[in-house]
Amino acid sequence: MPTLLRRSVLLTGTMLLLRAQAVKAEATPSTVTRDPSYPFTLPPLPYAFDGNEPCVDAQTMELHHDKHHAAYITNLNAAVKDSGQVAAMPLSVMLAKLNELPESIRAAVRNNGGGHAYHSMFWVVMGGTGGNPQGEVATAIARDLGGFAQLKSDFNRGGATRFGSGWTNVLVDANGALSLDTRPNQDSPLMDGRRVLFGNDVWEHAYYLRYQNRRPDYLAAWWNVVNWPVIEKRYQAAKAGMLGV
Ligand code: MN
Repeated sequence: MPTLLRRSVLLTGTMLLLRAQAVKAEATPSTVTRDPSYPFTLPPLPYAFDGNEPCVDAQTMELHHDKHHAAYITNLNAAVKDSGQVAAMPLSVMLAKLNELPESIRAAVRNNGGGHAYHSMFWVVMGGTGGNPQGEVATAIARDLGGFAQLKSDFNRGGATRFGSGWTNVLVDANGALSLDTRPNQDSPLMDGRRVLFGNDVWEHAYYLRYQNRRPDYLAAWWNVVNWPVIEKRYQAAKAGMLGV
């Protein structure tokens, strides 16, 4: 083979390899979109405990992450460790197949697996600077949820009127369509095979130290730390079928 041609073939091969690696890197779930599996571990916060001050105080953040989230993980590991088939499932599958799991561990997986899924999402969609939604998700909010002002109003009302403990969520389907959702306790939309684009925790442990009984004030302030660039990444991942929990 003439030298020039050989060089050209080598170069083309190298470029294809580099492109394949780039695609693989994009397709690998990041901390933003991962689907964890056993043994479950506490994901590090992507910011310092005071990273969402003054909306979320540092003490609440530390207790919420290091104690509450950690406890869900400890209890989830304990529940599935002796059930090999269950322990082999990624968390999203565990929750989607909840009704097929041994009855003896079903409630523990529902509560602690749901808790782990929710909080893994929750930390990454905060730490931002709020403002208006960006990118394709902004278009989807306008199309499906009546615009950002309407979304905030409906999402906050869902959280404020959730009796006791639970979550207020925006769900995303594989076509990128958005819908609102609110659930009690740690009940996860993943139990219905659905995906949470982002959600807010309305358990008292999420806000009581700073806001006491004023849950609506917490819900209103929370939008100031929403991380729209991360939400856009989760939105793109959902459309590609790559959003874990
Ligand atoms: Mn919580």
